Amino acid sequence: MSKTAAETSHNTDSTDSTETSNVNNSDDAISVNPAHYLMWFRRDLRVHDNTALAALCEQANADNASVSAIYFVTPEQWQAHDMSLTQLDHIARTLPILAKSLQTQLNIHLTVQLCSSFSDCVEAMLDICSANQISTVMANHEYEGNEIKRDEQLTKQLANNDIEFIRWHDQCILPPQTITTNDDSMYQVFTPFCKKWRHTLDISTIQMHEASAINGNTKVKLEVSNASATIEDIKKVSKEVVEDYQKALQNAGLLEHIDIDVQLEHARAAYPAGETAACQRLEDFIAEDIDNYDVSRDVPSLNATSQLSAYLTIGAISPRLCYLQATLQLSKALGELHGNDGDTLDSGDSFDNTDNNDINRWISELAWRDFYRHVLDYKPELIRHQAYKHETDVKINWSYNQDDFEAWCVGKTGVPLVDAAMRCLNATGFMHNRLRMVTAMFLTKDLLIDWRLGERYFMQQLIDGDFASNNGGWQWSASTGTDSAPYFRIMNPFSQAKTHDTDGEFIKTWLPELKAIPASILHSEDKMRQALAKGGKFADIDYPLPIVEHKAARQLAIAEFKK
Ligand SMILES: Cc1cc2nc3c(=O)[nH]c(=O)nc-3n(C[C@H](O)[C@H](O)[C@H](O)COP(=O)(O)OP(=O)(O)OC[C@H]3O[C@@H](n4cnc5c(N)ncnc54)[C@H](O)[C@@H]3O)c2cc1C
Repeated sequence: MSKTAAETSHNTDSTDSTETSNVNNSDDAISVNPAHYLMWFRRDLRVHDNTALAALCEQANADNASVSAIYFVTPEQWQAHDMSLTQLDHIARTLPILAKSLQTQLNIHLTVQLCSSFSDCVEAMLDICSANQISTVMANHEYEGNEIKRDEQLTKQLANNDIEFIRWHDQCILPPQTITTNDDSMYQVFTPFCKKWRHTLDISTIQMHEASAINGNTKVKLEVSNASATIEDIKKVSKEVVEDYQKALQNAGLLEHIDIDVQLEHARAAYPAGETAACQRLEDFIAEDIDNYDVSRDVPSLNATSQLSAYLTIGAISPRLCYLQATLQLSKALGELHGNDGDTLDSGDSFDNTDNNDINRWISELAWRDFYRHVLDYKPELIRHQAYKHETDVKINWSYNQDDFEAWCVGKTGVPLVDAAMRCLNATGFMHNRLRMVTAMFLTKDLLIDWRLGERYFMQQLIDGDFASNNGGWQWSASTGTDSAPYFRIMNPFSQAKTHDTDGEFIKTWLPELKAIPASILHSEDKMRQALAKGGKFADIDYPLPIVEHKAARQLAIAEFKK
């Protein structure tokens, strides 16, 4: 297995641990392995193509060591990061499934421990390592500020105790710093980044990392006080964590305008938990939808995108698997086009060939995900609410108008596509990409509200909330980001609706009060104002007039950015 720039705190002398036995009180779990290694799961809740897990199993098998696994649930820390309840619930639903897969496929036992914060995790990890004679801990990298700080602290403290902490790059298809310009700096623009990303993948074989079963016939359980050690325990604690988190959000006043039961119900139905469900979704998408992706990806009512982001965000599916499956499909499609079975085409051909915009387009979306992780790694201060283009951000007189912001949050701006999108987000925990752009641009350009407020609100609601992609998307929309929308190209939410929701199907699904209004009126600001005004044809409908006039707002925004 090729190592991907792992950071380690080295302890080459682990002779102490080789003398110890890992003894467990449970009947079926007595182990006398010479060494005990620990897999720390974070945003990588899967068995297949999990880089750290595969590496740890390989090393354990070579050293005849045993392996256990741990996951820390950190609700206070997550709340500070604005994690949505639907995402926490998704993690909670995934953990028992992961525990079962680890047990049945690899003979590894997962323990789940509740810690409020990352600093508690560090303490807990030290205790666990000492109580269980752990000599090596492996995990996959996380790229956000507090996560990096936590890992650095732990690296030092484990090293003081002669314990190795090895981290692997796993979250991306190509990890941060892999794609650089010819003079070794970060690409400021996506298109050349993507070109080099594709080229790099074309000329190198992408590796899938599969773990092999370890521990012989014994199951090694960690000795950890107050932890959930059985699958039933994990289910129970996961449920309690979700309930407590819901209460904490309620107490913080964050759920006032949300019907959280509806949001949870939607999210649970739309996103069955676990790696198998995620892989099935990928398979279905590739079989049914990818061939029309380039056209249908922009029509929100079609649900024609993969909806894999919620799984990618918590690591229930590997991005490399997504890439490989799409590439395979591309080879097949090009093979059919050129009258062969695709076997003769290498992936280099696939990129240069423009015959298949659909699959190529989807692959480039995966590149956006890698791009924003490269950006975050390059500018770690993004995590501290700083804009990528500081000089643009500071000259804008951002608005903090509470009424406007609340109208946007609850979907009562009087702009149908924006309101439908926001109500969909509040009810389901998901929003279509085109609508994320439209709503974010409306907030930051039409209302000139600070993008940080919108960024935070999205994180609090999205099941796929992910710092790098969310921050990237918001700064793109606010024109403060790398390769962001030019400030003068401001989306008109009415013409966006006309192009992407021509019959008003999406709008009417989420704003049933507008069902009677023909699309020709819905898609024109002037006609909507006339229809809803006193004496207008639809004056009786309980729906607000637009809170801002798009043309005037656009001019104001352009003047502000031009200053
Ligand atoms: C303002 C704003 C906020 C966003 N916040 C998030 C977020 O918190 N989490 C998140 O995963 N995505 C975010 N995105 C990107 C994008 O909207 C979602 O990834 C996409 O809608 C998820 O749906 P899907 O899985 O069906 O995507 P598909 O169209 O099927 O794309 C496949 C995968 O590619 C990745 N991807 C697609 N578009 C982008 C993009 N523009 N940037 C980065 N990755 C992308 C995702 O992982 C996605 O699952 C945001 C975009 C904007 C404009």
